[in-house]
Amino acid sequence: MQGYRMLIDGEWVDAQSGKTFDVMDPARDEVVAKVPDAGPADVDKAVKAARRAFEGWREVTAQERGRVLFRLAQKMRDELPRLAELETRNSGKPIVESEFDLADVATCFEYYGGLATKLHGEVLNVPDNALSLAIREPLGVAGQIIPWNYPLLMAAWKLAPAICAGCSMVIKPAEQTPLTLLEFAKFFEECGLPKGVVNVITGGETAGAPLVAHKDVDKIAFTGSMEVGKLIMRSAADTLKKVSLELGGKSPNIFFADADFESAVDGALFGVFINQGEVCSAGSRVLVERPIYQKMLDAMVEKAKRIKLGNGMERETKMGPVVSREQMERVMRYQEIGKKEAKVAVGGGRPKDGALQMGYYVEPTIFYDVDNSATIAREEIFGPVMSVIPFDSEADALRIANDTPYGLAAAVWSRDIFKCLRAVKKLEAGIVWVNHMQPTYVEAPWGGYKMSGIGRELGPWGAEEYLQVKQVHINLNEQPIGWY
Ligand code: NAD
Repeated sequence: MQGYRMLIDGEWVDAQSGKTFDVMDPARDEVVAKVPDAGPADVDKAVKAARRAFEGWREVTAQERGRVLFRLAQKMRDELPRLAELETRNSGKPIVESEFDLADVATCFEYYGGLATKLHGEVLNVPDNALSLAIREPLGVAGQIIPWNYPLLMAAWKLAPAICAGCSMVIKPAEQTPLTLLEFAKFFEECGLPKGVVNVITGGETAGAPLVAHKDVDKIAFTGSMEVGKLIMRSAADTLKKVSLELGGKSPNIFFADADFESAVDGALFGVFINQGEVCSAGSRVLVERPIYQKMLDAMVEKAKRIKLGNGMERETKMGPVVSREQMERVMRYQEIGKKEAKVAVGGGRPKDGALQMGYYVEPTIFYDVDNSATIAREEIFGPVMSVIPFDSEADALRIANDTPYGLAAAVWSRDIFKCLRAVKKLEAGIVWVNHMQPTYVEAPWGGYKMSGIGRELGPWGAEEYLQVKQVHINLNEQPIGWY
């Protein structure tokens, strides 16, 4: 078991209270590390360090910020095998997925390394004899709060654009999964980040809430649940800080009868079972057109039965344990609710295999004949649970798809491009996939409609979230205004 410290102002420190909390290996229900349990005093120290660092950091050239990001990307690639193992040990996800995620982390740093020198202002056409400029400046100190499902990747989605924009930051990983960020932070200094520009504090709500409330934090970037997102918005109102929220979803994955059948079956399973279903954009509502409903259900069940559950460290594992005992119990509660609301096609509990009793494993579960008003069709479960809902027409599919408070993602599958494009236009979601589900690219915007969030990550949109625009008016007339 390893003891960790957190990074404040370039120093590795314990919590001022001396408190720590346990970090678990979800595959074995074992403590793997002890991590400082930060409170308001630690948060205040980190924010002050970030504020001091910001004054120097904002003067650093965009070229240099870009170089720092490229070094971070290279370091990520160098350390990838070791950190991928740690990611799997801490989060439970299959090692192949951790390797994929961390390669994405490197790509994210590279993208924003390139973007750093391309952020610029504009010269505006105004009617008077003047130069009117819109210039972009960094927002200042950002507080960043990260969930546990893609621990280092969700951190990179916030660190990279903030560094690119010239902000300083205090970042808090989820209490379940702080380890890869703490390990990666050991390389910040050698990659050229001045001390205090990125501070990493660890803890749960007692660290997150004071960061949101802090009067010297200019912006909060949060990824997590809708419930906590609402709390954050309320708390941030007192200091009127900027807020961006990446929240949950109950995303529809829509299959028309003319979709390529094999791709449809694969796409439905991949859409909701990848990463144990702990995916904000999980296609947890599978809408299937009546003519292929039974055939597709049978084929999905057949394949779901063959999903290899196991310790994520084994390469053949396709589904690991969920992240924590609490999350396992939450998923099991929904499995029980589902049994009352709909029919179980496969799964519905914990795996019987004795070797899997030790960890936080749940069976990939498919409920069918689900009504869209059922709890399992309305609430985000954040586990490997699929609700299959039949539909009779295009209008019916789109009505059901949009009948949710969430609006993060949606997918539509059909060989009829006109039908797909009509759906693209009508679906109320920030991300729409056609004949695929889940591919995510750093170049493309990520974020939710409706109650799935505010703001966008990735691409130039991600950097905009850390910038503010200043209007500059330069009078070119060398004479008085002449009004009085
Ligand atoms: P969570 O909301 O429970 O916790 C997220 C983070 O908020 C953690 O770091 C936690 O410590 C912190 N936190 C908890 N209470 C807080 C408070 N009062 N003030 C400040 N911070 C607080 O979410 P989770 O269970 O870690 O993650 C799962 C959720 O994240 C799901 O709803 C999922 O959909 C969402 N998610 C969204 C995206 C996206 O891009 N839209 C991506 C990944 C995950």
